[in-house]
Amino acid sequence: MTRHFNFCAGPAALPTAVLERARDELLDYHGRGLSVMEMSHRAPEYVAIAEKAEADLRELLAIPANYRVLFTQGGATQQFAAVPYNLLGQGGSANFVHTGIWAQKAIKEARHLFGGVHLAASSEANRHTAVPRPEEIALSADAAYLHYTANETIGGLEFDYIPGSEGGGPRRPDGSEVPLVCDMSSSILCGPLDVSKFGVIYAGAQKNIGPAGLVVVIVRDDLLDRARADMPTLFGYKALSEAGSMINTPATYSWYLAGLVFEWLKEEVGGLEAMGEINARKASKLYAAIDGSDLYSNPISVANRSRMNVPFVLADDRLDKAFLEEAEAIGLLNLKGHRSVGGMRASLYNAVPEVAVDTLIDFMADFEQRHG
Ligand SMILES: *Cc1c(COP(=O)(O)O)cnc(C)c1O
Repeated sequence: MTRHFNFCAGPAALPTAVLERARDELLDYHGRGLSVMEMSHRAPEYVAIAEKAEADLRELLAIPANYRVLFTQGGATQQFAAVPYNLLGQGGSANFVHTGIWAQKAIKEARHLFGGVHLAASSEANRHTAVPRPEEIALSADAAYLHYTANETIGGLEFDYIPGSEGGGPRRPDGSEVPLVCDMSSSILCGPLDVSKFGVIYAGAQKNIGPAGLVVVIVRDDLLDRARADMPTLFGYKALSEAGSMINTPATYSWYLAGLVFEWLKEEVGGLEAMGEINARKASKLYAAIDGSDLYSNPISVANRSRMNVPFVLADDRLDKAFLEEAEAIGLLNLKGHRSVGGMRASLYNAVPEVAVDTLIDFMADFEQRHG
């Protein structure tokens, strides 16, 4: 059996050690004679799995006690609707920072459901190659919250700061504070994070947490009472929290695997400080290889280059096909860029080992020698 190096943007690579453990436990979980997949979500052994996953995530991210952690479904895309439903119940408008395709989708959904949204800042003018600076973010007088996308998975653009964090949360023109909401789907757990700066953090699991089908939401408990009355039950942060994320059947197996990933991060990697150092090394050597070549380039301003998703183009796009075929032939998978932008993209999530990046860099240099 060979496990290739997988640079897929999502669903993404999982740690081999996690998959081995899942394999070992697949048919008979801890001598119970059944698979985790076949357990009732109300069974004590499953509840223990679910609670341990939450406890480990809380420990990894040092999540303060006044935050609830939800394990829900519907993808990050469902949160594009769930966030405004949960936070616009007392009126006001959703404020957004527009930085690319994912931010745009969140904006579109809020506008579709509730009409007026306020664009507090946008990087459209620089074609999303640099995020707006903090002083460029201007909230509306009626802002109920500010939403931003920490890492644009397709564009490869990442915030190098937390909006509003200088003087607490983001502020309306009159100086009053509003909650900060963040789509962290492709960057959660990539390094240390100060959760206390946020009102709501949400992340689809299939990038840095586990398999698809699960979304983690971290919400400050004073925000649980701002929901609209016409909200679908399953969107509700308060109801989910009160039911231990089990209003209905949760994504039990994905939740279990996410728990194994949290354990791996704690015990094998040594926590998010250590993970952040590895990720910084992986990304900086790949960007250095791109910048040092005549064939490859990346347009993003250096301070906002994503640690997790590295898009690059070849100077001659007629070489794209050969690049992808040759890469795949030596076990470097899923380097094709998103269908909307073309070119290449190497996603370097936590489970992509440093040796994968080293192998990619060697291949890129060799390819340039032969074709450049
Ligand atoms: C992948 C992704 C999404 C969408 O996730 P789904 O689970 O497919 O809904 C949203 N935002 C960002 C930043 C993403 O990377």
